Amino acid sequence: MRRIYMDHAATTAVSDGALQEMLPYFSTDYGNPSAVYSYGQTGKNAVEKCRERVAKCIGAFKTEIYFTSCGTESDNWAIRGAARLRRAKGKHIISTEIEHNAVRRTLQQLEEDGYEVTYLKPDHLGQITPEQLEEAIRPDTILVTIMMANNVVGTVLDIKKLAAVARKHRVLFHTDAVQAVGHIPVNAHDLGVDFLSISGHKFNGPKGSGVLFCRIPTRLPAYMTGGGQEKEGRSGTENVPGIVGLTHALEENTAAMQENMAYLNGLADRMTKRILEIPGVLETGDPVNRLPGFCSFTVEGIQHSVLVVNEMNARDICISSGSACSASSQEANHVLLALGYDKQLAGATLRLTLGMDNTEEDADYAVEMLKTSIEKIRGEQVSRAPRLEGRVADIKS
Ligand code: PLP
Repeated sequence: MRRIYMDHAATTAVSDGALQEMLPYFSTDYGNPSAVYSYGQTGKNAVEKCRERVAKCIGAFKTEIYFTSCGTESDNWAIRGAARLRRAKGKHIISTEIEHNAVRRTLQQLEEDGYEVTYLKPDHLGQITPEQLEEAIRPDTILVTIMMANNVVGTVLDIKKLAAVARKHRVLFHTDAVQAVGHIPVNAHDLGVDFLSISGHKFNGPKGSGVLFCRIPTRLPAYMTGGGQEKEGRSGTENVPGIVGLTHALEENTAAMQENMAYLNGLADRMTKRILEIPGVLETGDPVNRLPGFCSFTVEGIQHSVLVVNEMNARDICISSGSACSASSQEANHVLLALGYDKQLAGATLRLTLGMDNTEEDADYAVEMLKTSIEKIRGEQVSRAPRLEGRVADIKS
């Protein structure tokens, strides 16, 4: 049996089209975009064209697109930059309890530097209401940062309504749209956000490529200083192949979005229905407002989800655990805890994220193997003292 990959929220393969468009910039057209001679200008022109192409895909102006190295960098730049830009007005930031570590840890560091952060608690499905945000805004609030789609349970939040609240109070609004862009329609102007983070490798672009949308007329302070690339905002020689690959993949996914969404929703529904037939398995996240192809569950009576991930891995099926775990430590997933699950359930969360390369046959086989794995682990837990083996990373992606 071939390997079945069901962890597309972690990363995806670079599409053939993206790879083909990237290749010349590694070998023949490798000139530095900052060089004056025409050889460098080929790269420069490609980057500027990509800025326009990306802007078109996400409903922005070309001058609002900044290329970065990843989603994490875009999150860092938006949050740290906005905090610095508005520090004379106040030091209060609002976020949620379910953000990715790229946002969480950035906020934690800002707290160490004297900023105050209010973390909004989501409901059981992972939703935050405009009323909650309205209530949390204070005269010294300078920034709201709320993710568009959650990477652990797949819930899609109503960013348009949330951003409208921030705008009414003249507070800057950032959304981490890393899991959303390329998978569901995203229009930055229509959403009304000031900053929006994107990562290329989540939608068949290359790793090491990202975008920060920054709404005109806001200008963030420079994230990296040096040669002045990206309109003085993010110095460093441009990753031309990465930018080209991200752009190509975004265009491809945007063009095929409705078709992809229909296929992935159908496949995820089929899997979810069957997985829920396994005794003691509970669906997590919002069943309606959900990323396409995103199946997330927690399992009763399982000591830790890493046990299931390891069992599936032994059968050549790649799925994701929801919690950090090692032989010596267990940690419940912060998102599941925020959604109100107890420690056992928060530690036993699983994520299967489907892609266009997954078939119905894959889905049915994976469900069978999941059932077998869960039964095996439950049996072992009963027959001997629980022991965790191996080391599997948290859902960091
Ligand atoms: N934000 C979310 C919601 C993510 O899922 C990820 C994925 O890892 C990131 C940010 C970080 O993106 P990147 O891997 O491009 O740094």
